[in-house]
Amino acid sequence: MPELPEVETTRRGIAPHVEGKKVVRVIVRHGKLRRPVPPDLLREFPGRTIGRVERRGKYLLLRTDGGSVILHLGMSGHLAIVPSATPPEKHDHLDICLTDGMTLRLTDPRRFGLALWTGEDPLVHPLLAEIGPEPLEEGFDGAYLFRASRGRTVAVKQFIMDGRMVAGVGNIYANEALFRAGIHPEKKAGTMSMERCRRLARAIREVLAEAIAAGGTTLRVFRDVEGKPGYFALSLAVYGRTGKPCPRCGAPVRATRQGGRSTYFCGVCQKR
Ligand code: ZN
Repeated sequence: MPELPEVETTRRGIAPHVEGKKVVRVIVRHGKLRRPVPPDLLREFPGRTIGRVERRGKYLLLRTDGGSVILHLGMSGHLAIVPSATPPEKHDHLDICLTDGMTLRLTDPRRFGLALWTGEDPLVHPLLAEIGPEPLEEGFDGAYLFRASRGRTVAVKQFIMDGRMVAGVGNIYANEALFRAGIHPEKKAGTMSMERCRRLARAIREVLAEAIAAGGTTLRVFRDVEGKPGYFALSLAVYGRTGKPCPRCGAPVRATRQGGRSTYFCGVCQKR
C-alpha cells in the first residue's frame, strides 16, 4: 500500500508536470473505485487550470480556482505522466488530459483508490477533516504526542497508526519508528514519558524523511513501475525480518499481531 512517503514522492513527481496546466478532458474507464467517480469531476474539472498539488495525509489534492480534485491511491494505485496518445492498459482507470499533450494517468489494479471533486475547501471534506497533524510539519513533536496520548490505554503502535492522532503513519513506518525510539509496540500510549514521546516523534519524522529521500531517486523511472509501486529502498531494521538479528543487539527480531496488522520488534532493545 502506498504510504505517506510514496504519496509525497508522487506529489513531488507529478507537481512540475501538472501545476499551471489546463485540463482538456477527463476520461474515466472504470469509475467503480472505492467510491464511484462522481459526474461533477467530469463536468467541473475540464477547462480549469491546475494550481498547487498538495498532500494531506495520504490524499493528494489538485487545486483549481473553482474546486479541487481529491485523489487517494488506495492499496495499489499509482499516478504517472504519459503522452496522451499512450494506449491505456487494463488497470488504467482515469486520465486527466492536459493541453500540453500529456496526461496524468491513475492506474489501480485493486481499485481501492479514489478520485472525487469538491467545490469547497478540500481540507474540510469529511474524508480529510479529522486527519491529525502532518508528521513532517510544525506542530508534531514530543509535546504533542505526550498531550494527545494522556489517558489512552491503546498500544502505542496502534496509537501512532491512528490517522486522527498523526497523519499517514502506516504499518511499516510505525514498526521502524518504534524500533528506532526503543519503545515496545505494545506499551500503552498513555504511559509514555515526555522523553519517550520526544524520541518517538523524532523517530517518526526521521523514518518518513529518509523514505522520502530514498524515493526521490526513483522519480525519473516512475513510469516503469508497472502498477506495483512497492516500497522504497529504506533499509528496514525490523519490518519483515522475523528471526533475523536485530541490527543493534543481534537478538532475533520477533513478530506478533496487533489490530490485524503484523508487528515486528526487538524484545531486548524495545522497552515497555
Ligand atoms: Zn535489539
